[in-house]
Formats: sequence, C-alpha cells, structure tokens
Amino acid sequence: MKVAVIGAGIAGISCASALHAAGCSVMLFDKARGPGGRMTSKRTGHGYMDFGAQYFTARHPKFQQQVARWQQQGVVSRWLAPMYQYNQGQLSASPDEQQRFIGIPAMHSPLKWQAQAIPSEMDCRITLLQQVSSGWQLTSEQGQVFGPFQHVVLSIPPVQAAALLNSHSASLATDTTISLPETLLQPCWAATLVLAAPTGHAAGGIFVKGEHRSLSWISRQNSKPGRAQVESWLLHFSPHFSASHLQASTEFLQQHATDCLSEIIGKPISVTEAICHRWLYAQIDAGAAEMNLSDNPHEGVWLAGDWMRGGRVENAWLSGDDIASKILALK
Ligand code: FAD
Ligand code: NAD
Repeated sequence: MKVAVIGAGIAGISCASALHAAGCSVMLFDKARGPGGRMTSKRTGHGYMDFGAQYFTARHPKFQQQVARWQQQGVVSRWLAPMYQYNQGQLSASPDEQQRFIGIPAMHSPLKWQAQAIPSEMDCRITLLQQVSSGWQLTSEQGQVFGPFQHVVLSIPPVQAAALLNSHSASLATDTTISLPETLLQPCWAATLVLAAPTGHAAGGIFVKGEHRSLSWISRQNSKPGRAQVESWLLHFSPHFSASHLQASTEFLQQHATDCLSEIIGKPISVTEAICHRWLYAQIDAGAAEMNLSDNPHEGVWLAGDWMRGGRVENAWLSGDDIASKILALK
C-alpha cells in the first residue's frame, strides 16, 4: 500500500512511522527543510533555542511508551527545572508532580530521529491534490508530480488542509468544497532575550495566569538540558496580544519583552540580543476541539494534527497514530 503523508510535524511523523513499521510504502513531504513543524527549535549563535513547543507531557499509555523509547535513544529527556507562576503581579514557585519532557538537543530531535528511516521529500510544498484512476496524485510548488498513492494523509494545519482539499475539488469541477474555520488556530509571537549578565533566578518555566496584558508563558532556556548555557529567556505572547500585533517590529517586541520580563522577575535586565519568531497558526481555539469534523473527508484522504484533538504535542502524536491504525485496518 502506497501512502503519502503531507506534513512532517509530530502528527505526520507518528502516522508515517506506524505505517512504515507495518510494511507500507510511505513517502513523507514537508515544505520546511526538515521535520519538526511547531516543535522546530532554531539554531542560533548560542546553540538551539525552543521558540515553539516548550515541553510535552505524556498521559496516554501509548504515548508514554513512545516517550520511553525516545529516552532510551537519548533524543528526549526529562526537564526538571522548577515551575513558577505569575498571577496578579506576584511571582511564586508553583511546584507540581507533572513529568515534563523535551527533545535533546532540540525539540525536533525525536522527530528527526524517527524520520531517518522514512523516504521523504523536504523543501517540498504540496499545492495540488488530484484524484487519478489508481489513487491520488500530488503536485509540488516546483511542479514535481508524485504518486499515485492509495492514501494521502494531510497532517497540516486547517488552512493549508482546506487549500489542498479544495484544489482537489477544483480539479473535479464539482461542488465538494470543504470549509474549515480559518480562525481555528490563533497566532503566537515568541521572543527570546539573551542577557548580558545572569539574573540568578531559579525559575525554569513561568505560567503567566489571569488577565496579563501580553504574555502567556516564559521559560529560561538555559534551564533545559542540551540548550545554550548563556542565560536566555523565551517569552510567548498571548493569542490576543499576538493577533493585535501581527506586524510588530523586532525592536518593539524586544523592548516590550524586556519590560515584561524585568517586571515579572523584579529586577532590571540588560539584553544583548533578541530573536523573534511569529507563529501564524500556533494554538487551537478552545472551542474548536468540539467541532464534529470527519477525519476522512474523501475516500483515501485523511486529516491528522493537533487541531483534530486539542493543541498539545501528545494529542498531535495520538491523532497521527490513530489515522495510521484506520488506514492499516483497511489493508
Ligand atoms: P505541525 O507541527 O504544525 O506540522 C505541520 C507540518 O506541515 C509543518 O512542518 C509544515 O511545514 C507542514 N506543511 C504545511 N503545509 C504544507 C504543504 N502544503 N506541503 C508540505 N508541508 C506542509 N504543545 C505542547 O504539548 N507543549 C507546549 O509547551 C507547547 N507550546 C507551544 C508553543 C507554541 C508557540 C506553539 C506554536 C505550539 C505549542 N504547542 C505545545 C503545540 C504543539 O507544538 C503542537 O500541538 C504540535 O507540534 C502540532 O503538531 P502537528 O504535527 O499537528 O502540526
Ligand atoms: P501541563 O500539564 O504542564 O500544563 C497545562 C496547564 O496547566 C498549563 O497551561 C497551566 O495553566 C497549568 N499548570 C500546569 N502546571 C502548573 C504549575 N506548576 N503551576 C501553575 N499552573 C500550572 O502541560 P500540557 O497539558 O501538556 O499542556 C501543554 C502546554 O502547552 C500548555 O501550557 C499550553 O498552554 C501550551 N501550549 C502553548 C501554545 C502556544 O501557542 N503558546 C500552543 C499549544 C500549547
């Protein structure tokens, strides 16, 4: 059975790995240079820094087994740094029993490790999905044609999935247009500040609670194993702030992030470098998980991704694994 998996985030990797292990002929596609998606860490002059997913938890037994395998391979490790919270102007330690995991040396490391065994086309944006007599054919932005495949898994965010599904409808000249809500995933600005001198603060992660005007999360990157040793702090801006500052300049974000961090940790800081990244499709809208979407909109075409189950790494992995099981059940 020939299967194409479009999108090499954690959902696509989980789906492709399960199909590959069961003996299917799988081809993995991504528009980026490597696997990772929203788990991609940036390589900077100070080493890897995590701009997207910060850590993951594992509650489902199947995902716990997968995490244990990654730990054995040395591509995932526990993140043991202390958790704090900032609420109504107060920063306080907020210890808990939750096990948190990170990729080593980068968040995308477990994905890269799993993708090694799977034939893949990176730097390859798929722009057209067409039904042919023996299955589905894919066309890339560069005009390369792939397939036919008996099954195509779209493990990509909803806006991109809708575009591909509708490219197929156009090719059939029928009215089977699929509409997925464009607002399903909200944006998130991320800013990392590299400091001139250490603050000596113990916090690893800070959950920013309540009605903070701009932030949702802060982490000290050098509290994570395998990351840069220079003291640096990552700030995630809230969906509301990010949506209303989509075109903000790096200078503005650096100044705002510096003011926020200084206020929260309660001391002045001196920043030597700021690196910003805008995620247009970051976080799932709270209500979206309740939508009754089919994961199989056309025969042989499947939808996977965090947005099908709720925006967490574990949910994305489970979504991809679930689609693989459904395809294998048809064998
Ligand atoms: P993605 O990772 O988005 O993968 C989709 C892939 O499809 C991408 O690689 C993209 O390049 C590719 N693609 C899209 N269109 C095409 C096309 N036409 N052709 C080819 N390729 C295409 N989760 C947690 O559990 N813990 C956290 O701390 C956490 N923090 C987060 C912080 C931020 C800022 C963000 C953005 C997310 C965070 N998440 C967190 C959520 C987590 O990152 C996601 O739930 C998960 O990574 C989504 O995986 P996915 O495979 O569904 O999608
Ligand atoms: P988790 O169990 O550590 O956290 C879930 C939520 O519980 C947190 O958001 C926080 O509100 C609360 N919480 C957990 N531990 C806490 C503590 N010690 N003190 C105070 N509050 C605490 O992890 P999870 O369920 O795997 O969730 C993944 C994380 O990914 C969440 O924090 C979520 O906000 C984040 N995320 C962020 C984005 C984004 O775009 N910024 C997108 C998707 C997910």
